[in-house]
This record gives sequence, structure tokens and C-alpha cells, in this order.
Amino acid sequence: MVEGFGKALVLREWDIPMPGPGQILVKTEACGVCHTDVHAAGGDWPVKPTLPFIPGHEGIGRVSAVGPGVTLVREGDRVGVPWLHSACGHCEYCLTAWETICASEIFTGYTVNGAFAEYLLADPNYVAHIPAGLSAAAAAPIICAGVTSYKGLKQTEARPGEWVVISGIGGLGHLAIQYAKHMGLNVCAVDIEDGKLALAKTLGADATVNATVGDPVAAVRKATAGGAHGVLITAPSIPAFKQGVGMTRKHGICVLVGIPPGDFPVPLFEVVANCISIRGSFVGNREDLAESLSFAVEGKVKANIELQPLSAINAVFKRLEHGDVPARVVLQFQ
Ligand code: NAD
Ligand code: ZN
Ligand code: ZN
Repeated sequence: MVEGFGKALVLREWDIPMPGPGQILVKTEACGVCHTDVHAAGGDWPVKPTLPFIPGHEGIGRVSAVGPGVTLVREGDRVGVPWLHSACGHCEYCLTAWETICASEIFTGYTVNGAFAEYLLADPNYVAHIPAGLSAAAAAPIICAGVTSYKGLKQTEARPGEWVVISGIGGLGHLAIQYAKHMGLNVCAVDIEDGKLALAKTLGADATVNATVGDPVAAVRKATAGGAHGVLITAPSIPAFKQGVGMTRKHGICVLVGIPPGDFPVPLFEVVANCISIRGSFVGNREDLAESLSFAVEGKVKANIELQPLSAINAVFKRLEHGDVPARVVLQFQ
């Protein structure tokens, strides 16, 4: 758990929580480590979690107890506990399938304790249902990195045969490439590490650009004959954002997904005169979650995972900060 922002996480014994009315208790089998967990533990964002807290929002496990009134899931069901822990269910956003921006939303591993623990509480209305054909470790990265990439690609509105840039080929980006190829898109992958770009090629990227070499914006514009129709920025790095806008084709859509602390300057004339849209995208709704899992069950999208025990978490965070995780680390509990 996180007891202080920017401090090492500590291992604590904790009472197993009791599910109250409408809640379920999940016994964790695996949980992916998202770069968001690093931001959470660092207190990087304007809205901060209340200390102490347990991070982790790619948790997969079995329902081990249900509270009074729960009918949607049963003991023994396999579920995923995603970032969106719960929402109100009846505001204008919830009613239009934008529950991820509900004003009453609660985040797993941020507002409430997450899945870097052997047990956690969840809301049965918002858990993912994990198909039998998918192991816990394989499913874990899909319920944040997968759904966020998939939804972000939809938000670019790029159509089959068009170009997308995926900036940042980490946990999110390596899945985004696979979703994009199955959506019929041409992919230009951008990262600052040649190893990540080599992985991008093996996953089907049509072009790769190292953002530390020469003029990456010019390189992308050349590779995509004038800029990408859609740009998806997953890089947790401010310079990637201004570059991403420059990589966007006229009338294209640049989707911001990475959330490094800070802001970036928007080149106003360029954006206005080229009719470029800049759009934020935040995880995905429950239907996006189910769709993103379907690609994984069908074997079309597969996370590259490295298994680690919970006790390795501080080393994993350090590696994420330095871009040293090849794709996704998944903590294994059994
Ligand atoms: P990650 O650490 O696994 O991957 C980040 C990748 O970006 C690495 O491959 C790194 O080499 C690359 N990178 C770093 N600087 C770059 C640059 N200047 N240009 C291009 N690439 C660069 O991280 P992740 O788990 O994939 O998460 C990425 C970001 O997305 C984080 O900020 C995280 O908080 C955010 N996130 C947002 C949502 C959302 O709903 N919007 C959901 C999940 C994660
Ligand atoms: Zn995440
Ligand atoms: Zn709502």
C-alpha cells in the first residue's frame, strides 16, 4: 500500500473486508501494473487519493462472497475489477454510456482500495466478466491497458485503410497496435526506445519512428503521406503531446490518453488553420470493456506479460518510470 506520496510501497497485513449491501468480495488471482498506479503513488494529479491506499486496477479474481441484495454475480464467478469502480447510474453521462465521466465516479486503486491485495471489494454492476478461455494473467492488462487503447482508437474516428500514430509503445501502446491492425488501420508506432519499436514491428506496425532521432514530426508526416488521420498519445511524457498534434493530418483527430503531470502548449494557429481536433479519452465504458475482452478471447490481441510477485512492486515501479518494462508486468497471487 501507499502510505506517502513518492515513497516506497509497503507490505501490510490487513483484515479481509466484508462486502456490504450491493458489494462483492473478490479474491485476487492476478493484477497488472499500469503506469497510472505510478502516478497514483506519486500524487501526480490534481485530484489525489486519500492516504493510505492500495493501488491496482487491473485485478482479476473469483468472487468469494456477495453482500446482501447482489444478484448479478455469484460466488465463484470470474471477474475483473477495473479502474471505474462505480458510477451513479442515472446522470446524463451514465445514461448515455459515458459512465467513465460521471461526477460521482469512484476509481479502483485510487478512491477505494485496489487489487495489489489478496482481497478487494467491488461493485457487481461495474466488474468485467472474464470469459473461461482467458487466464487471469492474460485478462489483467486488457481491463485497463486494453480497453483504454481500444476506446482511444475508436475516438480517433480513423477508418480502415487510414493511418494512426500510436505514441508510446508500453502497456497501452503494444495492445493499441494489435487492436488497430484488427480494425484495418495502418499503424505508425512512435517511442523513444528502439526495443519498443522492434516489438511494435513484430506486432504489425507498418512504420516506426524513434522520437529522439532527428525531427520525429517530419518523419511521421513522411511515413503517413501528410500526417496520420488519428493520433493516440499514450506516452507519459509531455514532449510527446505537442509532437502528437504535429503528427496529426489536416482535419484529423489527436486523442490524448497519457496523463503525465503538467500541461503542454497547443500550437493554436496550426490547430485552427488545419481543423485539427484534440480530444481526451478516459478508459472505456462497460460495453467497450466487453468488446476489448472479446478480441483477447478470440486470440486477436494478446498482452506481452512478465509475471512478478507482489513483493517486487517497488522495483517494477522504478522500471516503469524509466521505460524499462518491455510491455506489461502482471502481479501473480497464486
Ligand atoms: P508504460 O510505462 O507501460 O508505457 C509508456 C511508453 O511510453 C514506454 O514505452 C515509453 O518508452 C514511452 N515513451 C516515453 N516517453 C515518450 C515520448 N516522449 N515519446 C514516445 N514514447 C514515449 O505506461 P502505460 O501503462 O502504457 O501508461 C501510459 C500512460 O497512459 C500513463 O500516463 C497512464 O497514466 C496513462 N493511462 C491513461 C488512461 C486513460 O484512461 N486515459 C488509462 C490507462 C493509462
Ligand atoms: Zn490503468
Ligand atoms: Zn452518473
